[in-house]
Amino acid sequence: MIQRVRGTRDFTPQDMSRRRQLEDLLRRISRDYGYREIQTPVLENAELFVTKSGPGVLNEMYSFEDKGGRAIALRPELTAPIIRFYVNDLTNLPMPLKLFCISSCFRYEEPQSGRYREFYQYDVEIIGSEKAEADAELLLLADDLCRRLGLNEVEFRIGHVGIIRGLLDAAGMPQDRQSELLRLVDKKKLDEARAYMLSEGVSEADAGDILATCQKKGDREVLKGLKGEASEYLERVIRLAEKGGASNLSLDLGVVRGLDYYTGLVFEIDAPELGAEKQICGGGSYALAELFGGQPVQSTGMAFGFDRLILAMEKTGQLAPEEGIELFILAVTPAQSEEMVRLAGGARKAGISTEFDLMGRSMSKSLKYASSRGARYALILGEREMAAGKVLLRDMDNGEQSEIGIGSVVDELRQRLAVR
Ligand code: AMP
Repeated sequence: MIQRVRGTRDFTPQDMSRRRQLEDLLRRISRDYGYREIQTPVLENAELFVTKSGPGVLNEMYSFEDKGGRAIALRPELTAPIIRFYVNDLTNLPMPLKLFCISSCFRYEEPQSGRYREFYQYDVEIIGSEKAEADAELLLLADDLCRRLGLNEVEFRIGHVGIIRGLLDAAGMPQDRQSELLRLVDKKKLDEARAYMLSEGVSEADAGDILATCQKKGDREVLKGLKGEASEYLERVIRLAEKGGASNLSLDLGVVRGLDYYTGLVFEIDAPELGAEKQICGGGSYALAELFGGQPVQSTGMAFGFDRLILAMEKTGQLAPEEGIELFILAVTPAQSEEMVRLAGGARKAGISTEFDLMGRSMSKSLKYASSRGARYALILGEREMAAGKVLLRDMDNGEQSEIGIGSVVDELRQRLAVR
C-alpha cells in the first residue's frame, strides 16, 4: 500500500464540511472588514524566500531544481508571495490595498498534532499604510475572529521590534548585529541572548535592562518608563484597538518575531486550549516591497494557522455536523429507472439537493444508505403506485410515508422543506 507523504493529510467529506465552514466564516469576516481575496501559486522561485527569511524558515523550506534547472520552492508562507504579486502587478491599485488568502503552505517540520508539513494559513495583509490605524485594524479583525469562533480564552501578545532595537542602539550594538539577538529573544533563549550581547560589547547593566524589558508582559502599564517612538506607537495602537472594541489585548515586549523584515508592531495570538502547538496567529508590520525590487511601501499583516483554528473550534464545539442531502430517489425495479433520473433532474433544477440510487439494491438497503447520507426525504418509485401516476414520499426523520402525484413532487418537497 502506498502511504501518504509524512506530515500531509487527507481530508474526509466530514473534514471538508468542517473546513468549508471555517472558510465561509473567514470569507465573511474578511468581507465585513473590506478585504479582497487573492490567490498566488504554490510554486515560487526559491529566491523569493531566500531574500527575506531567516535561517529558520530556509532550513524548513521544500526546494528543488526543476527540469529547467531553476531553483523552485513550495511556499512556506504567504506574505512574501503576496508582496511579490503586489510589486509585479498591483501597484496601480488604490491604497491601502487590503487583501486576504486562504492557502496551503509547506514546511519540513517535525509533524505532531497541530504541526504539519502541508498546512493552511488564512493570511491578511494591508499594503500601503504606515499608520497606527492599520495595525489597530488588524488587531480588531483578529479579536473579532476569535470571538466569532468562540475562542474566548485567547491571549494576544503584542510587542514592537523598535523597543528592543532602540535599547540595543543606545547600548551601542550595530544594527547588523541585532537580528541574531532578536532571533534568540524570539526563541526565548535569554541566557544565550545575554552571552551574545556581552560578546558584542554591550555592558552587563545594559544587557540586564534589555533582558528585563524583553520579559515585560501585561497591559499598557508595562510601557511606563519606556521612552521613544516605538512605545508611543504601541500605546496608540492599543488605545485605538480598545476603542474599536478589542478586549483581549495584552503586551509582551519579548515578542519580536525573529525575522529581519519586521519593522514595527509585532504580535502573536495563543489559544491555550490547544496545548503545545497553541499559537494560532502571528503578524506584524514590515517593509518587503523594496527587497523585491518595488518602491518602498509599508505594510502590515498576519497569518492565522487554519488547521489550528479547526482544532480549536472542535474543542469548543463550534462546528456543525456535515449537511445531508434533501432527497434520495430510488426505483423499486429497473423499470422505474428512467423516471427516477427524470425526477432527480426536476428536483435539482428546483434547488433540492438530490441523489438517486446507483446500486440497484433492495429497498431497505437503499433506505439505509439514504439515511447514512442524512437524506431528509426519500422518494420511492414502485410499479403499482407509478401505474396510478403516484410515488411514495417518505419522511426519513419519522418514517411516515404518503402517496403523492408524480406531477406534484417538486411542489410538495419545496413546501415541506420550506417549513423546516
Ligand atoms: P508563521 O508564518 O510561522 O508566523 O505562522 C503563522 C501561523 O501558522 C502560526 O501561528 C501557526 O498557527 C500556523 N503554522 C505555522 N506552521 C505550522 C505548521 N507546520 N503546521 C500547522 N500550522 C502552522
